[in-house]
Amino acid sequence: MKSRTPDFPAPLDAEKRKATPPVVCYPVDQLRVAPLELYFRARKNFELVESLEVPAREARTFEIPAGHFFRIVCVDGPQVGDLNLWQAENLQERFYSGKTRALHGTHLSTGDRLWSGFPYLRPLATITADTLDWYGFDEFGAGVHDVIGTRCDPYTSFLSNQTKYHHCCHSNLIRSLALETGLSKAEIEADVHDVLNVFMCTGFLQDTHQYFMKASPVRSGDYLEFFAEVHLLGALSACPGGDCGSEHSSDSSTCYPLRVEHYCPTNDELTKVGCRSPSINGYDRSHGMGN
Ligand SMILES: [Zn+2]
Repeated sequence: MKSRTPDFPAPLDAEKRKATPPVVCYPVDQLRVAPLELYFRARKNFELVESLEVPAREARTFEIPAGHFFRIVCVDGPQVGDLNLWQAENLQERFYSGKTRALHGTHLSTGDRLWSGFPYLRPLATITADTLDWYGFDEFGAGVHDVIGTRCDPYTSFLSNQTKYHHCCHSNLIRSLALETGLSKAEIEADVHDVLNVFMCTGFLQDTHQYFMKASPVRSGDYLEFFAEVHLLGALSACPGGDCGSEHSSDSSTCYPLRVEHYCPTNDELTKVGCRSPSINGYDRSHGMGN
């Protein structure tokens, strides 16, 4: 944290230096913008193909073909979900929450895309509906669906209080991915990555800028919907923090299951325009070293 009593004196022109205007690092209109109107037409009358329940304090994996949609649904009560995404045939290509945050901001909603990491850096999924989009940002500066937090994990808990809790989202995601791939927990741990915090309500304190959470405004029936840009393997953990209004790495919070719904378009809107997965990033990976 920044010190309230800095060690070094401010220079004479400190106010002038601070007054320079901010410049958006990555203007979104320069990115590959999602063809939302096409996706909205494709999702008209789409059909539910499969429904998967994610039990409280557990995670489950799911596969979504490219060109299909999926929803994460709040079913029984306020519950936060931690989402991981991979390109199904290559787990090395996975969701990159840090770059997604740099491109779209701290909290995602309709039209924002979930990008994969280097060297792929392409959209894995695009958000096509968000029933909590009315929330915006509240008086504390908090919003929902953040790409700030990493995921609750047993290592940080151990650092804080020397306890061993095995149902943090990190561990839940490891168990589900190990089951899906048949690989050991040691082999699979590095494939679990920073998440999209679905339904989580978070922000930064105005004085210290520390990351904070508050009770999620999500209610039964709310959902966040995605278009799968590529063939996806996903894993969703129903966070042990429940609505994340108080505690997130223990059994003390009330938790509920979440549901993943897989939808298939029933019209030919996507095939009509020859919609296909975005190609992987065009940079040649020479990094100034030749080929
Ligand atoms: Zn969690």
